[in-house]
Amino acid sequence: MLTINALCWLCQQPVWFSHQGICRCCLKDLLNGRETCCPRCGLPAGSRRQCCGRCQLKPPPWQSITYVCAYQPPLSLLIKKCKHRGDTGLARVLARLLLLRWQEDRRLLLVRKPDLILNVPLHTSRHWRRGYNQTDLLARPLARWLDIDYRREGLVRLRAAAPQQMLHARARRRNLRGAFDCVTDVAGKTVALVDDVVTTGSTADEIARLLLARRAKAVHIWCICRTL
Ligand SMILES: [Zn+2]
Ligand SMILES: [Zn+2]
Repeated sequence: MLTINALCWLCQQPVWFSHQGICRCCLKDLLNGRETCCPRCGLPAGSRRQCCGRCQLKPPPWQSITYVCAYQPPLSLLIKKCKHRGDTGLARVLARLLLLRWQEDRRLLLVRKPDLILNVPLHTSRHWRRGYNQTDLLARPLARWLDIDYRREGLVRLRAAAPQQMLHARARRRNLRGAFDCVTDVAGKTVALVDDVVTTGSTADEIARLLLARRAKAVHIWCICRTL
């Protein structure tokens, strides 16, 4: 008998494998839905293999970004649900989408498997109120499936930043300066930084700079959605 868990999170049709959570048709739509984007910044570009003009002039501190698709329904709704409910089953479904996308990027861009996974931390007070951090719920299954070392508390947030939504790009960067610390050894390692949504990229930027200052070899951004 099919249980409620065996329905697709998007179209409510039964799925064969309940742990996958999204049916084949919806999966195909989601994975085909990404426009051609720059491998480095993830913004729309003419080629998936070559950096866009913006990145050639001023590359971000990270080496590549992998995301499932643009931040829009239906995936944006699932991310919100995951954020507010801390649903580990749903987080696993989202993480699986990211895994499939990463495998595709790996074949296309020949990126290597990272040595270490870190997740974007919430400030402790917010973590405490929610009781979980959605980036941790996403990073955990990815680390397990790919057999990559994962340090859940490798990154810490030192102070709460003012809500980012209200700020312009430059103010966002200023707002985040010195907001994080890294308490695990990243020297010589390639790090995948897991976030749920990358918007302006200022958080990824700040953390990537911190990791490179601690002598990480390279930083790759893994997120479910990118705001385009
Ligand atoms: Zn479906
Ligand atoms: Zn670019």
